Amino acid sequence: MQDTFDYLIIGNGLAGLQLALKLSKDPFFESYKIGLIDPSDKTENDKTWSFWEKGEGKFDDVVEKVWHTAKFESPTISLRLPLKEYSYKTIRAIDFYNWTKNQLSIKDNFSFISDSVQTIEENAISKVIGLKNNYSANHVFDSRIPKEFRLHLSKHTLIHQHFKGWLIETDTPSFQPDAFTMMDYRFQYRDSTSFIYVLPFSETKALIEYTFFTPFTVEIQVYEEAIKEYLNQALNIEAYKILETEVGNIPMTDFPFWDYHTKNVTKIGTGGGWIKGSTGYSFKHTEKNVARLIANIKSGKPPSKNMFKKKFKFYDKIFLKVLHDENEKGVWIFERFYSKNSIRTMFRFLDEETRFSEDLAIMKSLFSIAFIKAFFKVLFRF
Ligand SMILES: Cc1cc2nc3c(=O)[nH]c(=O)nc-3n(C[C@H](O)[C@H](O)[C@H](O)COP(=O)(O)OP(=O)(O)OC[C@H]3O[C@@H](n4cnc5c(N)ncnc54)[C@H](O)[C@@H]3O)c2cc1C
Repeated sequence: MQDTFDYLIIGNGLAGLQLALKLSKDPFFESYKIGLIDPSDKTENDKTWSFWEKGEGKFDDVVEKVWHTAKFESPTISLRLPLKEYSYKTIRAIDFYNWTKNQLSIKDNFSFISDSVQTIEENAISKVIGLKNNYSANHVFDSRIPKEFRLHLSKHTLIHQHFKGWLIETDTPSFQPDAFTMMDYRFQYRDSTSFIYVLPFSETKALIEYTFFTPFTVEIQVYEEAIKEYLNQALNIEAYKILETEVGNIPMTDFPFWDYHTKNVTKIGTGGGWIKGSTGYSFKHTEKNVARLIANIKSGKPPSKNMFKKKFKFYDKIFLKVLHDENEKGVWIFERFYSKNSIRTMFRFLDEETRFSEDLAIMKSLFSIAFIKAFFKVLFRF
């Protein structure tokens, strides 16, 4: 038996659900039959998404906590950074899944399918082969990572953003919930780019993560030892309860995911290169890419047209090269980045919105032999 759709979205994750939600709110797609297919029913809180944005946002209904100040710590500097017109917001994935699914479930033209896609036979009407059933669709949005990513890794730079975090609760007030810690480099693992990240939800509850931006990964106890050390030495906390744990490994890479779009299949999310190579953030990029993709469809263009700006891909490539070849420089890079630039320029740069004059200010703050070497390595591909 075949189920037939105008659009089939593979993956009910961040990208698939943001795309479905935006399609559901646009009268242009009212008569389109849209299916979302995923083997997971998304009933667990498997992630915490955080991002910065200006003013009100589309997902404020599910925002757990908002901060207006960021902290940065290293062995040599300690910064408190007012975010000015920006704020930093956190969403628990489970709240996002439930909120989105509730809105989609009342739409007659949307259906959720519990199945795992095995392959796509592409054609004018593509056949999507699942474990349980086959489906056909005029166009497929696919959030699976292309298999070539693992196969061709040696040709590209890959930095693992890997981390483990504990959501902990204490009996007595232990945190200052007015500011979150973007990076604390006082607990570095050997000479690597590794830091503590803290989201204090209240005086007694915080998510504390030990994060690496490295070409290698580590054993689970390395993260746990660092979190314990941080709790003990930086915060003087001895008694606490672990409410939840979070682990992740986000690819920070210059792999060209966009080469894997075809006429009838558009790659989305991590599989479409929507995670920013130099930061691992994707929540806001997903929102922008979904908007661009839908605007393209409505104006008769291929969905993935003009999705990325080349100059930012080039900057990401250089930054990844530095982190890959001289990983110990991470702390210096981020010290300079956060202390020499305004919040506005930094966020606009990371959001890929800066003009060349602003890019130059960022480059000036990071000017060093490491970046010059990486620039030439990227340019001449060695
Ligand atoms: C623990 C963690 C924390 C993160 N925190 C942040 C953050 O704070 N801020 C930020 O901007 N980014 C963050 N990221 C990065 C990024 O935002 C997320 O990885 C995001 O979920 C990527 O969206 P996605 O839709 O591509 O993938 P996912 O959300 O992982 O969704 C992919 C979906 O595809 C489904 N799927 C897989 N294979 C198949 C198949 N064969 N058939 C059908 N369905 C399939 C999966 O079940 C899954 O539901 C985080 C990532 C992780 C892992």
